[in-house]
Amino acid sequence: MKLETKCLHEGYSPQNGQPRVVPICQSTTFRYDTAENIARLFDLQESGFFYSRIGNPTVDAVERKIAALEGGVGALCASSGQAANLLAVLNLAQSGDHVVSAAKIYGGTFNLLHSILRRFGIETTFVDQNDSNERIAEAIRPNTKLVFGETLANPALSVLDIERFASLAHSHGLPLLVDNTFATPVFCRPIEFGADIVIHSSTKYMDGHAVQLGGVIVDSGNFDWTNGNFPEFTEPDETYHGLVYTEAFGRGAYIAKARVQLMRDLGCCQSAQGAFYTNLGLETLPLRMARHAENAAAIARWLARHPGVQSVSYPGLPGDPYHELAQKYLPAGQSGVISFVIKGGREAGSAFIDSVKLISPEVHVADIRTSILHPASSTHRQLNDEQLTAAGISPGLVRLSTGLENVDDILEDLEQAFARI
Ligand SMILES: *Cc1c(COP(=O)(O)O)cnc(C)c1O
Repeated sequence: MKLETKCLHEGYSPQNGQPRVVPICQSTTFRYDTAENIARLFDLQESGFFYSRIGNPTVDAVERKIAALEGGVGALCASSGQAANLLAVLNLAQSGDHVVSAAKIYGGTFNLLHSILRRFGIETTFVDQNDSNERIAEAIRPNTKLVFGETLANPALSVLDIERFASLAHSHGLPLLVDNTFATPVFCRPIEFGADIVIHSSTKYMDGHAVQLGGVIVDSGNFDWTNGNFPEFTEPDETYHGLVYTEAFGRGAYIAKARVQLMRDLGCCQSAQGAFYTNLGLETLPLRMARHAENAAAIARWLARHPGVQSVSYPGLPGDPYHELAQKYLPAGQSGVISFVIKGGREAGSAFIDSVKLISPEVHVADIRTSILHPASSTHRQLNDEQLTAAGISPGLVRLSTGLENVDDILEDLEQAFARI
């Protein structure tokens, strides 16, 4: 099946007389005939649903669909993108371990790595993703467990050279984890370029209608966890009577361990209702992404010519520093998100937010309705100027998330807002 078809048909195929649409399986638990049946599930000797924290049929359908869209062997849904990134890292690193991450990443993920996980003994070194391989390799230590980056960074809109990062990580026996939220599998499938684990905040384009938080981790099945760096995968897990993940689950070891160990104990699961909404969004994802990108490209070109604008970041624009990488990794579209720096800095940035009418000021991106945000006064206000600059954000930067309205209406609103400031 092609991607558009997968969005509609993967994950759930009704049999004779069953509901056409994936049912919301609103049940915390599942009934079995015997104690023996349940014991076998608990020992992971049989697969089946027993408690919705670890698995639920509606959530399972969405996991199968997203795994198929990314070309992975399995997926695990979580309650939010933050939860997905947390589990993705904790599945590999424990206290005393180390992470190498691109510096230009989502503010929430930066905080997670920079402060919260540090408190739990997992340290992160942030690297400039445009540095040479040699410079980046200097950050890798004997206790490094993974390399992390974002395909199209939120909100810096830098494009990660996934192939280069994958081979760099692999040459040190490490997996590459890529947050593919902004690109979506419609525009980029990082596994095809060597990424080992792909993460999404499904809250963004996958849902697309601003109704449901969610996150997902996809396992490529390609990384060799038996290479000596990941004893948790190859040594017995006493909480499952000495089960060894690589032996019991083969290519699905990573996602199985994340589910039966971390999701079991941390509990940040997606609900059946939540998965149902995410699935509705996924069904139209390719159509929406095409329109988001088409509108954004037109607006980016318009902004680039506007006298009130100091600079525009949109990797689809010729002349953008990431244009070349975008042509390789995001040839069919570069999402609906544009960053631009307004002349007049921090004050002009917030005045502009106060001046738009149709466009709504929101702490959100990737909605079908156009929204706008001034990161320096909202999502990134906890970062000092140095950290802001390292994350690719200047004080006058405005992030515009282009929706599916007629592009002329969006441009008219931007024009009147420029006139008012
Ligand atoms: C929004 C976002 C997250 C966090 O996702 P939530 O669903 O809001 O928890 C993580 N990574 C990226 C790139 C995001 O845009």
